Amino acid sequence: MCPYRIAVIEGDGIGPEVTSATLLVLERAIDRYGLEIEITKVEAGDRALARYGSPIPEDSWRVIVNSDAILKGPVGESAGDVVVKIRRGLDLYANIRPAKVYPGVRALRNNVDLVIVRENTEDVYVRAESMIYEGVAVALRVISRYASERIARVAFDLALKRRKHVTIVHKANVLTLTDGLFKNTVYSIAKSYPDVSIDEMYIDAAVMDLVRRPERFDVIVTTNLYGDILSDLAAYVTGSIGLAPSANIGDRKALFEPIHGAAFDIAGKGIANPTAMIFSMAWMLKYLGEKNSDENMVRAGKAIEEATIYTLSEGKILTPDLGGNAKTEEFAKAICDRL
Ligand code: ATP
Ligand code: MG
Repeated sequence: MCPYRIAVIEGDGIGPEVTSATLLVLERAIDRYGLEIEITKVEAGDRALARYGSPIPEDSWRVIVNSDAILKGPVGESAGDVVVKIRRGLDLYANIRPAKVYPGVRALRNNVDLVIVRENTEDVYVRAESMIYEGVAVALRVISRYASERIARVAFDLALKRRKHVTIVHKANVLTLTDGLFKNTVYSIAKSYPDVSIDEMYIDAAVMDLVRRPERFDVIVTTNLYGDILSDLAAYVTGSIGLAPSANIGDRKALFEPIHGAAFDIAGKGIANPTAMIFSMAWMLKYLGEKNSDENMVRAGKAIEEATIYTLSEGKILTPDLGGNAKTEEFAKAICDRL
């Protein structure tokens, strides 16, 4: 079995703090399970931009392209340039964002267990804006059948492993052509999945129901921008934005990152919650394990998840966002002890 090559981007703000906590847990798992993982830290983000004039310098890009998976901390001002370049450059077309309530965590709603499957390559994220006259700006919104079909398949495949329900979120009453194409394409793919039930909602109704009756959702499939907005809300509804991991998956590679941003307001204090990044790292191990039929990697990923959930539910060592007074590193050490 060849060793797995992981590129790690620390990021900005709280990024280095949550990354070092996460690597502490990963190194413990490597020892405990004898994993063959080669970790390479790469510079990307605001500090790379300041030092080299590029948010992803050539050397970093080379390591990223040659890695099996990327573990990424939150990036600050240059977040758009970094993540959009990696997502589009490596064609990581599916952004998967689960929202789930963990025992012992005070959440706005307790009955949430859903996954947002967000199309990751087009919509307004093609970033084609122009000022057509002084005082009038336009943005291009791209939706294609090709991208809608492949994201729909990801959503239905995932639903088969869960409660077998998919909700399409769109605004086709206003954006008849773009959202109309997305919606109709998802329905056409649904025909190949007779065991999965399907319904649809407008984005405005969906945000309301995410708070009012979140239990109605299992898998949500949506376009890029709606998915971005929905997933921050979904993370908040389950307790703290510091808990929610995400995966950006393509046919060959994948990137795992917390949903939250660089949180400059609490950076450098050692109080950030590293859970979202630890869950992202555990997900990465499971993904690589499943892809390579490597049971040991899957087992290690699950064990990290369980140790993290145990530490959260025990409630003795928690970071301030969850009502505790533990430091980032203490929380990570508690997970290592449990492992
Ligand atoms: P971005 O535009 O990069 O998404 P943002 O403006 O949405 O950034 P975040 O950096 O995600 O903002 O932070 C939003 C709030 O949540 C901040 O008050 C921050 O302190 C808090 N927060 C974010 N991540 C964490 C974390 N891991 N632990 C504790 N608090 C966090
Ligand atoms: Mg944000």
